[in-house]
This record gives sequence, C-alpha cells and structure tokens, in this order.
Amino acid sequence: MKPVLLVINALDVRDEATALFAGRPVWQETLRRIASLSEGCDLLLVCHEGESLLPEACDVPQTRLSGYGAHAVLSTLQHNHSGYEWYVFLDISAVFMDPGLVTAFLGTGRHRIAQYVYGEHYPKGIAPQVLSAEALAILAGVSSGNDFRFGEEAIFDLMGLDINSWDIEMVVSETDFRRMRLDLRIRSAEALARMKALLAIDPGLVDDWSYERLARCLREHVGILRTVPAYVELDLVDACQLSCHYCPRSVREDLVPEQSVSLDDLGRLVKDLRRFAPDATIALSPYSEPLLHPQAETAIRMILDSGLRLVLETNGIALDEKLAALLASADPERSIIIFSPDFSDPERFAREKGASLLPLVEANIERLLALRQRNVWIQAIQFEADDANLDAFYERWKAHEDAILPRKYNNWCQCIPGRPAVDLSPLVRTPCWHLARDLVIRADGRVPMCKQDLECRVSPGNVFRDGLEAVWAGLERQWQEQCADPAFQGLPLCAPCDEWHTYNF
Ligand code: SF4
Repeated sequence: MKPVLLVINALDVRDEATALFAGRPVWQETLRRIASLSEGCDLLLVCHEGESLLPEACDVPQTRLSGYGAHAVLSTLQHNHSGYEWYVFLDISAVFMDPGLVTAFLGTGRHRIAQYVYGEHYPKGIAPQVLSAEALAILAGVSSGNDFRFGEEAIFDLMGLDINSWDIEMVVSETDFRRMRLDLRIRSAEALARMKALLAIDPGLVDDWSYERLARCLREHVGILRTVPAYVELDLVDACQLSCHYCPRSVREDLVPEQSVSLDDLGRLVKDLRRFAPDATIALSPYSEPLLHPQAETAIRMILDSGLRLVLETNGIALDEKLAALLASADPERSIIIFSPDFSDPERFAREKGASLLPLVEANIERLLALRQRNVWIQAIQFEADDANLDAFYERWKAHEDAILPRKYNNWCQCIPGRPAVDLSPLVRTPCWHLARDLVIRADGRVPMCKQDLECRVSPGNVFRDGLEAVWAGLERQWQEQCADPAFQGLPLCAPCDEWHTYNF
C-alpha cells in the first residue's frame, strides 16, 4: 500500500487563484509548497469538469468532477485512487500552507492510530485534514445520502452525523486565531490584498514556509485585517415612519428627511464597489427606513443585479406585495432580509415606536415568510432586564423560531439611556471590527468614522464627491491608531463604545 495521496481541492477555484503572488500565480505558489512533500506522496488535483482557470501545464494528475458535492469527491477517491494508507486534503488557494504541518498531522494520525486528524484554532486554509483509507471508504458511503458541498467543513460535518463512532485527533494551534476570523486562502480580492500586505511586512515568508513564522507575523501585525470594505452601510434616505426612542435618530440634530440618494450616485457606488471590493455586502440602511426611497424597488434591483450581497433591514411597514415578490425571487444566499418589529405586544410597540402599526408589520412579515424562509429574519432587541419582551416575542413567532434574531441593545456610545441585557464584550479590548471592515455612508454621501459616529465627528469626506477609495483610505489612520493603542485613548468616541467587538458578516 502506498503511503499518502495529497488531494488538492481546486473544485471551487476563483479568479484570484491565477493572480500573481510573490512573482508566481497563486496556484503555482501553493503547488510549489505541496510538491516539496512529494517523496512518498502522490498528488491529485480535484477540479470541476467545466472550463478550468488552471492551465494544463500545472502538471499534476487531475480528476474532473461534474458537481461540487462531497460524495463525488470521496467516492472517486475510493474507486479510482484506492491503495493509499492516508488521504490528505489541501486547498489550491492556501498559498501560505506549511508542508511541515502535513508531516506533523500525518505523524499524529499514525502515532494515535486515528481515522481523521484536523486542526483547531488555525486560520482557515492552513491546517491540512488527514483521513485514513478506512474512514474514506465509510464516508464515501455516508455521503451518498448527505451530499454536503465539498468545502473545508465537509469531512467533519459527515463525521458529525455519528461523531462518537470515529477515532478523531485534533491538533491545536499554539496561537488561537479564531478571534481574527482569518481565511488565508486567496479566494477574494480582500484575501489577496491581505496576503500581499503580509508579504510586504515579511518578504521572508516566501521562502520560510513555517507556520510559526507566519503566526508570529499575524500576531504582531493586526493592522493587516483592514484591506477593503466588507460591509457597506448605506442610507438610501434620511427618513423613517417611526420614532423609536432608542433609535439614534432620536438624538441626531442633522436629519434631512427630504434627502435621498439618486440612482446615478447609487449606480456609481455599486460599480466602484464591484471593482474595489467585489465581495462586499451593501446593507440598507444604518439610520433610516430604506423602503421610503421614492425608487426603492429599482435601487434594490440595482444592488441585486450587481452581484453584491444585499442586507435589507426594514421596519416592514412599506414592504408590500410587489416588494415581497421581488425579494422572494432573489437568491437567498445573496440577499438577507431583516425585519425589526422589536416587540410582539401592540401596545408596547406603539409606545416605544410612536405608531400603532404592529398588525401591518406582522402581516407584511408573514407574507414574505410564506414566499421565502431562507435568510428572512425577525429581530427583537435585548433590552436590559426585559426578558419578558423576549419571551413573548419567541411565543409570538414560535412557528418561525429559527428566524428570530435577538439583537444587542446599542446605546450609541452612551448617547441614549439603557444598557444591553448582557455584556458579551471580551475582557481585553482589541482593535474595532467596524473600523477594519465597515464603511458607513449617509444619504448625502458623508462618511462618518463608523455607525456610532452620529455627528460625523471624524469624516474622511463625501463618497459621491471624493470617491470610494479615497474615503476608505481616509480612515486608515484611525484604524492604525487603534492597533497601536488598544485602550482607545486617542479616539474619545471609542472609549465609551461597546460595539467594537461586534461583527457584521
Ligand atoms: S470602537 Fe465604537 S466608536 Fe470606535 S470605531 Fe469602533 S464602533 Fe466606532
């Protein structure tokens, strides 16, 4: 029996796999590292049968599959590539992979007589997955009825169907990288920018492939987490039908209800985002009700058609039959709808929000849920010492319990009274995720430092006048200041803020 087959996942390869990285295409740099293991190991590239981005010249035996499911991969390995003791799964975009980890994980598998070895607390794409021939044969059968997409989680998810029947070994990273939410596979423009920033910091990473060196570099340079905007919150208008006392609009003095974003400006912004940050999400709206825009339906279509992901957060009052049909026809993986009724008691709703409109809101939620369930959420705010509201909310929406979204109460840097129901903030402050990933745009184009910056105290400019890249670059200094000063002494707005650890997907 041969010892090892290195299975390189190139099924879902993205354009970025052909981008230049350290003078070579990404796929070539990854293969260069994997090929250093070739003594005693065979290589197999698993590709989709469609047109491949990878040239034939990559010179590695390939198998081409018609789908993306785990069953096709595992059963092909079992039937066409049997005779190996171990199967090691790697990713073609994992350009910083450390061949030493493969050797170490295989050693753990042999020493502990495991069926499966995987890594915990590593950045995504770094830890290999090692599967014994025996486990491969069983999983090939199991996956016929549970054909998960063959991503990084597929093997573990298949084993999870009967987790106690497996001998599994876990190798834990010395540094816990979970909090950094790092994916070191080059599968997006954002990831490519991050990897290039890492290389600029430590060019020696091209030739020293050790995970220890990479981990040290990541630990010491948190600044690389800011690359391009990932979550762009845009106010289409500056208006709302409600007047919630806990809404930041209740303390803003610069409201301009007649202000709205023109379709021309929206079109330019969407185009710029597609170019600069093609994996970004556009979230409507940080401080207003987006469906009050006079051409809301067209604006939503523009975003959906652009390929950017949409998050639509609405009070639901204006979400009529026509809009429900549009949202029901949208790809639920690329469009997330969040209703914010917040309460289930009509009297409380009227008292807190200034209008007796709960029955209309609930009818509009029910109508959309009848057409589409995936990624439609019903939000309840978690006020301090207000468990009764949340309990009643769960009771009201028990038929859609999985769609309930409890949201942390935000007192907007103590501009509004009240505190969250629970304090989930980590004990040690770290640089703010919102500065690293978010860009907030007012209906007049002004960009504040973050959503908490209600008065635009720190503003890098106007996105419609100065351009997307310029306003994003204009906040780099605040990010670097936070990285250098985790106690946030230099940014007065940040000191009382408790939103720094929250994260928009
Ligand atoms: S810590 Fe709060 S105020 Fe400061 S940038 Fe982050 S979200 Fe804004």
